[in-house]
Amino acid sequence: MPNLIAAGLLAILAWGIFVLFSPYRDCRWCRRRKGRCWRCKGRRLTRRPGAYHVHKVKLSLLQAWDEWEWRR
Ligand SMILES: [Zn+2]
Repeated sequence: MPNLIAAGLLAILAWGIFVLFSPYRDCRWCRRRKGRCWRCKGRRLTRRPGAYHVHKVKLSLLQAWDEWEWRR
């Protein structure tokens, strides 16, 4: 069982790193219809699942790093 949890955590971590470097993908809703769609608002790009949360985690990590630097 612990192996499964470790594998799951590793998968989440790998996905997080992947999303961190390429958070957007082509909007697949645009292929079906022409013109602007409500999903991407005409940008033809949509965020990958979890991109928002990865972004938030990145920001909080950067902030934590900043605070740690200042306290030194
Ligand atoms: Zn679209």
